[in-house]
Amino acid sequence: MRDDDNLTAARPSFVSHLECSMTGEHYPADQIHNLSRAGKPLLVRYDLPGVAKTLTKDALAERPPDLWRYRELLPVRDAGNIVSLGETMTPIVRMARTSAKLGGGEILVKDEGRLPTGSFKARGLVMAVSMAKALGIKHMAMPTNGNAGAALAAYASRAGIKATIFCPEDTPEVNVSEIALQGASVYRVNGLIDDCGKIVGEGKAKTGWFDTSTLKEPYRIEGKKTMGLELAEQLGWEMPDVIFYPTGGGTGLIGMWKAFAELEAIGFIGAKRPRMVAVQASGCAPMVKAFEDGVEHAPRWENAHTIASGIRVPQAVGDFLILRAVRESKGFAIAVDDDAITAALNEMAREEGFLLCPEGAATYAAYKQSLASGRVSKQDRVVLFNCASGLKYPLPPVHNTLDRHKPIDFSAL
Ligand SMILES: *Cc1c(COP(=O)(O)O)cnc(C)c1O
Repeated sequence: MRDDDNLTAARPSFVSHLECSMTGEHYPADQIHNLSRAGKPLLVRYDLPGVAKTLTKDALAERPPDLWRYRELLPVRDAGNIVSLGETMTPIVRMARTSAKLGGGEILVKDEGRLPTGSFKARGLVMAVSMAKALGIKHMAMPTNGNAGAALAAYASRAGIKATIFCPEDTPEVNVSEIALQGASVYRVNGLIDDCGKIVGEGKAKTGWFDTSTLKEPYRIEGKKTMGLELAEQLGWEMPDVIFYPTGGGTGLIGMWKAFAELEAIGFIGAKRPRMVAVQASGCAPMVKAFEDGVEHAPRWENAHTIASGIRVPQAVGDFLILRAVRESKGFAIAVDDDAITAALNEMAREEGFLLCPEGAATYAAYKQSLASGRVSKQDRVVLFNCASGLKYPLPPVHNTLDRHKPIDFSAL
């Protein structure tokens, strides 16, 4: 190990307190918290002038390429509590052929499928579990559409914390299997993710487990925030024009928006922000409806359905934070249907050799529609988020066979 290793170096965290995202009420750091007294997400606040005095771009550039390089802006104070599976910086892949074909600006795909457990849920859960370890939590529970549960299972096992996980009954088989294999108790529930969330809430008093639901604990968002820190650093501290983000609970979108504000406060970037675009599936688009209706809160979306299971979230506790970021950034919210998602996935796989997950494919479908309608200009440099490995999803069967004992017609292959 190098002595500047992100996992062992003694570096300070500059957390000052937690704050209610609705009322601004302060809460002490270093204690166990869920939602604020107003029932809203808590945000972690830092002594940013302190960070600005301590952290330089040059020092950062010297550190190994994982998310722990940003420790001054993360909540874990003692490196001994870091529970890591190797949260590597993820590559940005240029889709030059597709840009040329569409006649638009540069298309950059941030490929989050390279993270441990195959999805960007690792960013949030590595932080939540490391903080749970620091705070002495022994049992964590969560509702999940699959990827978050897999990441919780993996990190909790590593930390010696018990994990109990509830998912909708039609969650992809691979997710349920990986959750179980990685040591958690997992149950299929005949309902959607928010129905599973109710079970987690109800069981709290009876079992004493900690509710790790999206935005109901304060640290997953800090982990997801590193997408924004990393993106900015990788692009040479230049913001892209537009970010297309597949939005379920919205942790990543809210987290990136927070990251950009913190980077500006420490003088690493200027005032320019990307337009944030929340991408949803037509079968479950509560944020799109709320955005178009001009309201701050999104009512529950009934009969939610889409092949992009990671964004099948009928109701989000952080709805107002998603909508605020989208509006402040002069972005928008857009829905794409499952046929467009499948077509986008097939197109990128065949033409660029890049297997998107359905949620990532939704961002590409949304970009194409936005370019065609003029909501995004032909000059705009855009970032699409591929949030999981395409290999975690059911793939279409292939029926070609070849009998090696018979003559082969090579001209027909
Ligand atoms: C969870 C998930 C999303 C949605 O992320 P949020 O930040 O919770 O909105 C998108 N895609 C995939 C693959 C996911 O697992």
